[in-house]
Amino acid sequence: MTSIGKLAHVRTSTTFSPLTGFPEFPSDWVTGSASHPYEFLQFQPPAAGQTAPVELTTDVVILGSGCGAGVVANKLAAEFGASLNVLVLEKGRHFDASHFPMSPAAGLASLFEAGGVIEVDDGSMTVVAGSCFGGGGTVNWSAALQTQDFVRQEWADRGLPFFGEGGGFQACLDRVYEKMGCKGEVVVPNYANRVLLDGAKELGLQAKIVPQNVRGQKHDCGYCTMGCWKGEKMGPVNGWFPEAAEAGVKFAEGFKVERVLFEQKKQTKVAKGVEGVWTSKEGVEVKVVVRAKRVVVSCGTLWSPVVLMNSGLKVSVPDLAACRATLTACTEPPDRKEPVPAPDQLCLGCL
Ligand SMILES: Cc1cc2nc3c(=O)[nH]c(=O)nc-3n(C[C@H](O)[C@H](O)[C@H](O)COP(=O)(O)OP(=O)(O)OC[C@H]3O[C@@H](n4cnc5c(N)ncnc54)[C@H](O)[C@@H]3O)c2cc1C
Repeated sequence: MTSIGKLAHVRTSTTFSPLTGFPEFPSDWVTGSASHPYEFLQFQPPAAGQTAPVELTTDVVILGSGCGAGVVANKLAAEFGASLNVLVLEKGRHFDASHFPMSPAAGLASLFEAGGVIEVDDGSMTVVAGSCFGGGGTVNWSAALQTQDFVRQEWADRGLPFFGEGGGFQACLDRVYEKMGCKGEVVVPNYANRVLLDGAKELGLQAKIVPQNVRGQKHDCGYCTMGCWKGEKMGPVNGWFPEAAEAGVKFAEGFKVERVLFEQKKQTKVAKGVEGVWTSKEGVEVKVVVRAKRVVVSCGTLWSPVVLMNSGLKVSVPDLAACRATLTACTEPPDRKEPVPAPDQLCLGCL
């Protein structure tokens, strides 16, 4: 509890900015950026006395709106266009680029799972996850690292040869890289990342600069995690969903899926839709059942297993433990100037 309290306090304290020299908002912020003008489904509560859920039918329902969901929705739209009805359900809310970057207090509450701080019981590890339209793709740091060889090999060894050498996964990554604009100008590392690079060199370790998914833009304002105010981070909201929306893919925000529904077909359980609760911005809750021929579960590492278990499926422990570790290093430049120049704000580097 103490460490949760400290974390929450540090991230929302009004003294944080003056003490660290880290301005709450980018000094070069200008108004004007906007996201694609998304429209979200609205559901009417049933008439008084009616308890049956609202029902709708689609071909494919995608649970979650994060990085995985973005790619799937875009690919389905590109392949099938308006001939396939696709619906994306997201429990978080959409915020247009003009709302970004949010203050740490507002951003953590509105864009992240559990207000931004999920601590393991002994306080040794904090898990962060996006929970808004775009999921982690809205709050991540735009570092576009391709899945490393040893991870792909592990997946191949577990019976998924597609991810192993020559299995076809590399071609998929290359297409994603191209589409997300990860091949632009070389990123200029901030002070802390320069320390990491120099340190690695001294130690004889291999270290490289990771590209960003920003279509070659100079992207160093340092506020990615509170939402991209320039709208140039090519995650789901700016990169994958706009084309999908134009091709007819539908979206619902504030829709928490509770379980996947199944029907028995011969010896096999086949997904036939989902049920969940949609909450209007005014707080009115509506129970909804979505009937679908295909169900894609893309609720992220934290919630996909939970949704599947709530649906009566068995999920193994290794699947639950598939989180990616990040270590952060904070440094203070010996010649630190006030105010801290934008790219060196906080001087945070990541490993
Ligand atoms: C702060 C931060 C920085 C990061 N930086 C980087 C980086 O620089 N580079 C990088 O490669 N990766 C980074 N990541 C990781 C990357 O963002 C994730 O790996 C990626 O978003 C995972 O995609 P996903 O589709 O599996 O899940 P997510 O993007 O997490 O999306 C899951 C979505 O499902 C929704 N959801 C969950 N349960 C339900 C439900 N029951 N009903 C409806 N919706 C539900 C969630 O609200 C969420 O929006 C970062 C992550 C964070 C949190």
